[in-house]
Amino acid sequence: MRLTRACVDLDLTPGTRVALPENAASHLLRVLRLREGDACVLFNGDGYDYDARVVAAGKRGGEVEILARRAVDHESPLRIHLLQGIARGEKMDLILQKATELGVAGIVPVHSERSEVRLEGARADKRLAHWRSVVTSACEQSGRAWIPTVAPPQALRDALAGVSTPGMRLLLDPTADAAPRSLAAPGDAPLTLAVGPEGGWSPRDRAMLQDAGFSGIRLGPRILRTETAGLAAIAALQARFGDLA
Ligand code: SAM
Repeated sequence: MRLTRACVDLDLTPGTRVALPENAASHLLRVLRLREGDACVLFNGDGYDYDARVVAAGKRGGEVEILARRAVDHESPLRIHLLQGIARGEKMDLILQKATELGVAGIVPVHSERSEVRLEGARADKRLAHWRSVVTSACEQSGRAWIPTVAPPQALRDALAGVSTPGMRLLLDPTADAAPRSLAAPGDAPLTLAVGPEGGWSPRDRAMLQDAGFSGIRLGPRILRTETAGLAAIAALQARFGDLA
């Protein structure tokens, strides 16, 4: 199936015409080769899809007319915030992409004691922009019209100080006793899920998380890679309390 859905950072009002920003023009006009009169769908993260029609397509860009607005309800009733120990390169991209497909509401990338990746300054800014584009593409593909937030990479301590969301706080920990099936339903409150990096949580990280109200859960008897653990937990939680089952 051809994906003629693109995210644009624009105000979209039915009855108006908008010039396509570079990324959307490249995707719709150059890759998919849409031409004048062809239909496409735009979204800007406000919870709606906008039916549109190409009215100008040229080498330097294009213009579309916004025809109609449709509310899109593809969000899970379970709002999961993923606090993810930063993983190496493509693994982190995979985590962000799949977590978005599985319906997380937000992602906070954290440096912890055993992190193998340290991001600061311009490198951190560049990586954050890249991660946000990975999440936006996953929304284009999966039909989400709300875009999960991606916070700047930060120290675990700072992330915990900033966790203002009430609700359940879970720490994925292969040494924990509790299993996901033992959890009480979180109700309407959001759920924050902390997943360690490749090297796992150190005793100091675990103590910090526990002091911040995180309780440990274990996903079966096997040690999972960080990119498997978070996604398996999100899928299990969405199946139990969200919209995956
Ligand atoms: N040797 C490390 C340890 O014992 O923590 C393994 C780290 S594992 C590759 C990376 C992260 O995935 C862990 O910090 C934890 O958050 C999560 N994880 C992996 N397997 C898990 C399991 N069976 N149950 C719960 N969490 C798990």
